[in-house]
Amino acid sequence: MRSYTLIAPAKVNLYLEIIGDRPDGYHELAMILQSIELADQINLEANGVELIRLRCDNPQVPGDNRNLAYQAAELMVKEFPDSFATYGGVDITVTKRIPVAAGLAGGSTDAAAVLVGIDLLWKLGLTRSELEELGAQLGSDVPFCIGGGTAIATRRGEVLSPLLGLEDIYIVLAKYRRLEVSTGWAYNTYRSLFSDSYIKDTESLAARANAVHSGEIVQAILHEDVKEIAQKMHNDLEKVVLPEYSQVVQLKETFGKYDILGTMMSGSGPSVFALCESKEKAEKVKLCVREEIGDSDLELFVTRLINHGIQVV
Ligand code: ATP
Repeated sequence: MRSYTLIAPAKVNLYLEIIGDRPDGYHELAMILQSIELADQINLEANGVELIRLRCDNPQVPGDNRNLAYQAAELMVKEFPDSFATYGGVDITVTKRIPVAAGLAGGSTDAAAVLVGIDLLWKLGLTRSELEELGAQLGSDVPFCIGGGTAIATRRGEVLSPLLGLEDIYIVLAKYRRLEVSTGWAYNTYRSLFSDSYIKDTESLAARANAVHSGEIVQAILHEDVKEIAQKMHNDLEKVVLPEYSQVVQLKETFGKYDILGTMMSGSGPSVFALCESKEKAEKVKLCVREEIGDSDLELFVTRLINHGIQVV
């Protein structure tokens, strides 16, 4: 039986701006997405029977067709029925390391890995943009997760402009295991509070999204100026998550007491990360936060920015 093992990295948002509404119920966004080394591992094995089967070691994650990795395989079956008939089904094993429902695109990156892996198993020879188009049917973050690195993401987040990939910049990442924030709740609450400020006409929306390409944080990324990147990080969803979730506020305030360059919630949270000047400083900050917040529910990671998405090992 042929098999592939893939590494599926998480992402953080260096920038997230909500600029308007969309007729499909989503928002028009301008984001900068960044891959990090913290990753799940996905194993795909041709099983010789006409079935998709999935195993996952994390009970927080559904083991059936609600799992995005499973849905990615179902999509491939639907799109390439002849290859499914020729090669048969796949056994998918997800080894979860990325915290779940954390704003780190955990499900999306697993789905991206399944698309890349089945493309190889079934010898389809799909291009990056063909894979990204398939990924967009599964979720807004899936196209980014395929190629990863550093990218501007607009529309729902699926239109990507890659930037010079940042790497070897260290972050400390914090997430309370039992604290989950629903992405839908965060965006809907934002809409109910701030939709008056949304840009309404199509031309102005496009102009605002384009403006991000020449914005201050993009300039800082192009110059690989970590201090400036940290200063210019932004996340509109903090405006709705921080007032409701005191543990997220606590994490930001605690990071703020130590030797960091900047701290931000990722996506719709509740994970919070802090950019640090070096690996040593990041390890020190992690220790200090661990000492200050004794709660065993708090997970802390030192990880780094990387310039790639899904990788085959
Ligand atoms: P995003 O940043 O893309 O909004 P997230 O990191 O906030 O995503 P996920 O970890 O993808 O959130 O989990 C969101 C929900 O999706 C959870 O309720 C989880 O049970 C479900 N889910 C489905 N498939 C997966 C998967 N492969 N890994 C993690 N969660 C999954």
